[in-house]
Amino acid sequence: MQNINDYNFNNKKALIRVDFNVPLNESMEITDDTRIRAAIPTIKKVLNDGGAVVLMSHLGRPKSGPNDKFSLKHIVNRISELTETKVNFVDDCISEDAITTSSNLNNGEILLLENLRFYKHETAGDQNFSRQLAKHGDVYINDAFGTVHRAHASTAVIAKFFPTEKMFGYLIEKEITSVNKVLTEGKHPITAIVGGAKVSSKLTIIENLLEKVDNIIIGGGMAYTFAKALGGKTGNSLVEDDFIPTAKEILEKANANNVSILLPSDTVAADNFSNEANKQTCSTTEIPDGWMGLDIGVNAINEYSKCIKNSKTILWNGPMGVFEIESFQEGTKQVALAVVEATKNGAFSLVGGGDSVAAVNKFNLADKVSHVSTGGGAMLEYLEGKDLPGIKAILG
Ligand code: AMP
Repeated sequence: MQNINDYNFNNKKALIRVDFNVPLNESMEITDDTRIRAAIPTIKKVLNDGGAVVLMSHLGRPKSGPNDKFSLKHIVNRISELTETKVNFVDDCISEDAITTSSNLNNGEILLLENLRFYKHETAGDQNFSRQLAKHGDVYINDAFGTVHRAHASTAVIAKFFPTEKMFGYLIEKEITSVNKVLTEGKHPITAIVGGAKVSSKLTIIENLLEKVDNIIIGGGMAYTFAKALGGKTGNSLVEDDFIPTAKEILEKANANNVSILLPSDTVAADNFSNEANKQTCSTTEIPDGWMGLDIGVNAINEYSKCIKNSKTILWNGPMGVFEIESFQEGTKQVALAVVEATKNGAFSLVGGGDSVAAVNKFNLADKVSHVSTGGGAMLEYLEGKDLPGIKAILG
């Protein structure tokens, strides 16, 4: 494996797997170009060194073959604006014409290949398809963190055709470094904040974290399965009865591992799921019949903030309540502010996983934490301790 920063791309053709799966509106205009912007440092490194760039990506989920709605031609101009370089485009990713075009590419030029997923071979991880794709470059760079948990042709299988000339781009490198700063090199005390709707979807993460952190703060809907496991009354709150035994096991294991699990002492309960609902704050284990817990209460906010501000390493995955509704956003907002303050005081903070990322964006705090992960599913699997095929393929 090579390191992008030390590598000299002069006279090299770099085949870069990017994640340009950007949202498009009905007029095929990009509504959020964050993912393109995120790949610019890697592209610029190759161009500035005097190399050429061949970009490959997927866009959407085309069912059967080429479909104009999912064509990457719609994003050519934006890549060109952001790189300040002309971007050439070929309407296929493995045709002879595509391969001739990339082999004629000059240093300083960019070529974008058509959507990889117009071939079902991409998601199937097909060998021949990977071999054909590999013809586009002398060097392979994977900078698509969002798909690193997939064993697809362009994200994993292709790496074997570049036995030595393969590396991560800056984006993936930063994601890996950030997770490692929490899970393997984290300074203690390490606190994980785990929220979101259901305990079932966060079980593997919590189990993995029980081996690595000092505190686990629980919030969101999953808190009520724990509250019921402790014998509490949870009213109409979201409870997964099937997971009550698992919640009990987690509490026991935490105890055995000397990990503090913090459950919300109080809850903002509502009489219906809307911004106009009547609200009351009550103990999380004494929620009246007909009421549901939709946010953590002020005591929980204070306890959680104290724990967060005393931490040197913080990982946050999942909101503390239904933050999308203004009436129930306070817990998530205050926890975000505590993470920001801890970061200001020198803690390392990583926000990873879809909805906590949406929350820090909503409160305009994304640039006040150490790292916000771009890869929802990939980050979740990484935090679960799974081997990610796209990472293994480069390291192996
Ligand atoms: P997840 O994708 O599992 O992280 O869940 C995020 C979702 O959980 C968000 O859409 C929140 O609105 C929702 N959520 C957070 N707290 C609660 C709660 N107390 N009851 C129901 N849903 C919640």
